Amino acid sequence: LRQRTMKSKRLEAVERMGAAISHEIRNPLTVAIGFVQLLQNNAISKENHTQYLSIIKNELKSAERVIQEYLNFSNPEIKSMEPLVVQEELKQVVQSLKPLAKQNSVKIVSIFSQGEEIEGDKQKFHQCLVNIMKNAIEAMPNGGTLTVETESTPTTLGILIKDTGSGMTLEQVNRLGEPYYSTKGSKGTGLGIMVVYSIVRAMNGTIHVESEIGQGTTFKFTFPSLSPSFLEPVETKETEKELVG
Ligand code: ADP
Ligand code: MG
Repeated sequence: LRQRTMKSKRLEAVERMGAAISHEIRNPLTVAIGFVQLLQNNAISKENHTQYLSIIKNELKSAERVIQEYLNFSNPEIKSMEPLVVQEELKQVVQSLKPLAKQNSVKIVSIFSQGEEIEGDKQKFHQCLVNIMKNAIEAMPNGGTLTVETESTPTTLGILIKDTGSGMTLEQVNRLGEPYYSTKGSKGTGLGIMVVYSIVRAMNGTIHVESEIGQGTTFKFTFPSLSPSFLEPVETKETEKELVG
């Protein structure tokens, strides 16, 4: 059994990545522009025409992937913290991933307790879950089971995302969150987990990974649960105001 806990050093690196990522977007765009220029040549054969369009489409898709996974990374600080009913958010994300799961013959099992709340940004929280669940599904190309489970204590809420996929070696687990670390070739960006780490940190959460080659992987997120007393004290609000002003 292999495990590790989130490291803050890696997260510092995350915040220095902006410039490097714009480079990652420029590369595919430059290739796409080159092929558009070739297409502007009238003498081009039908066969080449089709081939060039397909290259352009792939390059644009690749740029889009980088941008999508970068969205939350560029601004890991969450400005609009709102109460999120975790189970409701999980349901929505699971629903949106059903077509991809079906394509890979992956069965999704949800084991939720009743609506518990944490604090976070809805869209970023979704992105975080999508990134992890997509990886889980992608790790099971020949089918398997994706289990999404919540686990609560009086002060925390745990979210477990388990797959029965390829699993990772200790070395691979240790590289999670490193910018551009991907084993998926041109189909990966290696930015997904990095974004997840920065969002989870901004939500005051922690990540714990357990993985075993050939058996599968479990990502466990732990967030402080939002108790009603959290919303009440006036003193806290005024202290915050003082800090801001
Ligand atoms: P990408 O999915 O674009 O490759 P990620 O940052 O999302 O980038 O993931 C980085 C790498 O971590 C993946 O390429 C894969 O090797 C590994 N990984 C992440 N999640 C899993 C998982 N559930 N099972 C096996 N490997 C995983
Ligand atoms: Mg990914």
